[in-house]
Amino acid sequence: MSLTPDQKTEIDAARAQSNQTRRPTVPALEEKMFTAMPVLDHGFIRVVDYMGDDAAVVQAARVSYGRGTRKTSEDEGLIRYLMRHYHSTPFEMCEIKYHVKLPIFVARQWIRHRTANVNEYSARYSILDKEFYIPAPEHLAAQSADNRQGRGAVLEGDDAARVLAMLREDGETTYAHYEEMLDENGPGLARELARMNLTLNTYTQWYWKTDLHNLFHFLRLRADSHAQYEIRVYAEAMLETVKAWVPLSYAAFADYRLGAATFSAKMLDVLRRMLAGEAVEQPESGLSKREWTEMLAALGR
Ligand SMILES: Cc1cc2nc3c(=O)[nH]c(=O)nc-3n(C[C@H](O)[C@H](O)[C@H](O)COP(=O)(O)OP(=O)(O)OC[C@H]3O[C@@H](n4cnc5c(N)ncnc54)[C@H](O)[C@@H]3O)c2cc1C
Repeated sequence: MSLTPDQKTEIDAARAQSNQTRRPTVPALEEKMFTAMPVLDHGFIRVVDYMGDDAAVVQAARVSYGRGTRKTSEDEGLIRYLMRHYHSTPFEMCEIKYHVKLPIFVARQWIRHRTANVNEYSARYSILDKEFYIPAPEHLAAQSADNRQGRGAVLEGDDAARVLAMLREDGETTYAHYEEMLDENGPGLARELARMNLTLNTYTQWYWKTDLHNLFHFLRLRADSHAQYEIRVYAEAMLETVKAWVPLSYAAFADYRLGAATFSAKMLDVLRRMLAGEAVEQPESGLSKREWTEMLAALGR
């Protein structure tokens, strides 16, 4: 992760500050605030601000006058009930704001999540840093043979070396052209135009703010094993911040969403027949081969 000395000084100054407030705060998240958590080779994620805590979820669900906290066990039971039954609006009462530095191709996947507020670094106004994402050798994999949207075996030997060299060379070449096009003593091309030649592994940055309900939706999709590794590692870092921020809500989310599996009506029918002792096979199950494999995988078979 590369922070310039100026950026580090700014973050340290923000971290050294403390403000008095009547609002509830969460010590475990305060501890993480203004700390850049490294992600990928040059990226990071850091919490910039937040509002609410587990008690705010409970307070909203009960529409109570005070903090709404009864016993922790009652709050936990209520939060688990809300999560289990998709009663989602109480989770929208909590908000969090992140500063994220990420490769442009990851940002393209991330921006599809429309239920957030985003402000991106302006490459019309400023010059992008010379930083490209180069995968670590263990993440440089061939196209998967059976999953059109995934990776297969890790590249090795000459193939790996050649791909890494191409990624580095292309990044260097397009960035050198970017600088040349911008040169005030040369073409002096506008920043908004010169950027179009940069590679998609160039890093960008944004502030990204969302509420806890939509953050859970994002994390369920992007911390999942089907998500691309390069966005998944950001989601995994965010999970750590959520665990510190709203431990009861996080635990309910981990149980009812992250660690849960959904069975269709047909799958449930098959499972009922199996539990009754019937030997059900895929061809007469009413499930496609893929559904059958997915059901067995969810059952750890
Ligand atoms: C593994 C994986 C593979 C993917 N592959 C592809 C792909 O090949 N091509 C591709 O284009 N995308 C792909 N996506 C992106 C995916 O289709 C979604 O766009 C993305 O995950 C954002 O989800 P969302 O719309 O639910 O999130 P958000 O935009 O945050 O929306 C959250 C929820 O709000 C509601 N909502 C938001 N906006 C609207 C609206 N305008 N109208 C109605 N309801 C709305 C919906 O209920 C939605 O689920 C992929 C995502 C994943 C996780």
